[in-house]
Amino acid sequence: MDFQLTEEQKAVRSLAHDFAMKELVPHVEEWEDEGVFHREIIEKMGAQGLYGCGFPEDIGGNAMGLLAQVLIIEEITRLCLEAGLSFNIQSMVVPKGIYNWGSDEQRQRHVPKLLRGEFVGCFSLTEPDCGSDAAAIKTRAVRVGDDYIVNGTKMWSTYGNVADLILLIVKTQPELGTKGASAFAVETKDLKGFAGAKIPSNIGSNCVPSAELIFDNCRVPASWRIAQEGEGFKVAMNALDYGRITVPARAVGIAQSALDKAIQYANERMAFGQQIGRFQMVQHLIADMVVETEAARLMVYRTANLADQGQTFSREASQGKYFATEVGVRVTERAMEIFGGYAFAKEYPIQRLLMAAKVMHTGEGSANIQRILIAEDALGYKKMTRHAAKPKFAL
Ligand SMILES: Cc1cc2nc3c(=O)[nH]c(=O)nc-3n(C[C@H](O)[C@H](O)[C@H](O)COP(=O)(O)OP(=O)(O)OC[C@H]3O[C@@H](n4cnc5c(N)ncnc54)[C@H](O)[C@@H]3O)c2cc1C
Repeated sequence: MDFQLTEEQKAVRSLAHDFAMKELVPHVEEWEDEGVFHREIIEKMGAQGLYGCGFPEDIGGNAMGLLAQVLIIEEITRLCLEAGLSFNIQSMVVPKGIYNWGSDEQRQRHVPKLLRGEFVGCFSLTEPDCGSDAAAIKTRAVRVGDDYIVNGTKMWSTYGNVADLILLIVKTQPELGTKGASAFAVETKDLKGFAGAKIPSNIGSNCVPSAELIFDNCRVPASWRIAQEGEGFKVAMNALDYGRITVPARAVGIAQSALDKAIQYANERMAFGQQIGRFQMVQHLIADMVVETEAARLMVYRTANLADQGQTFSREASQGKYFATEVGVRVTERAMEIFGGYAFAKEYPIQRLLMAAKVMHTGEGSANIQRILIAEDALGYKKMTRHAAKPKFAL
């Protein structure tokens, strides 16, 4: 086992750092005040190659591997939460879903555009009445000749109202349960019978929209279907495995950001004639924050490393998602404590970090759902490896 990063991996993290300091950090406050989506964030990150580590060069990637991708996600999220939120969609769930399950034509048509930031992606599974119980989705696609007619409502789709491409999971044969779901790569340009609206919410960033999507007799070509009819649930679960690399990587970036800010504040803030960092109880908080962040980081790196080696990684992804997102919440809560009353001042972004950490804790399979998967696997009731597919692309 080698815990050292390669020179190439260190260089990619440093490139992400320099990019964030130049292109993102100076604009964050302005973006948050405006509260609108800025497409140029995704375009610039795509042009810089920040989304493409998990894909080969012939499809627009740079083949540096998922550990390199995790390093980028962590560093960008640490410095700019808003930009960090784009990785799940642009570098993992949507392009991996299409790359692993689509035809050659579908891969070539969509994956390079997502990785280069020319297309904004969206993954849409959750509905108003079901999130954790994903098998209960009701949005329906009915085959009519060379098309499908889609009807239903989706909820909480990140970037859904601004996306060019939606990896959409629907039911084609509801009576078959999970075996009756299908996946589609839906292009939204000039799409009739489709509308997306931003959900007013507090997710830690004002400029990353979560959307409700309405499909009202929306006609999509059958050629947009990804994989076979009935394989949509497999596509979704496999895509979510990759999300369980991105989401904990972001949680580590959030935790590190909260820790950096708490350390700076503890060294500056004076009480009873000394820096608050000199108080033992504050030091206990800092010590726990350091150790937990480091442990979470190692778990995420382990998952990415397994994927890079071409191994199945569902179990480790679920464990890492559970632990790192718990850590994200705990560390940001402790940072709030260290900031005292100023934690609630808009001047300090700690509250935004806490909300973002909470979102990581809920999305991509909530903490409870991860606990169920991990416990059932450990008890031998349902092995997490039973459906796990080896990565289509490895180093
Ligand atoms: C900001 C944001 C962005 C999101 N982005 C996307 C996206 O891009 N695409 C997408 O498809 N979805 C997205 N989601 C949806 C997200 O994945 C769901 O919110 C999540 O899966 C939880 O589903 P739910 O909200 O319906 O909660 P519910 O499933 O109703 O769960 C509510 C609570 O009950 C608990 N619970 C549920 N079932 C069980 C059980 N069997 N045992 C124990 N506890 C249980 C849950 O852990 C949770 O605490 C996003 C959500 C948010 C908030």
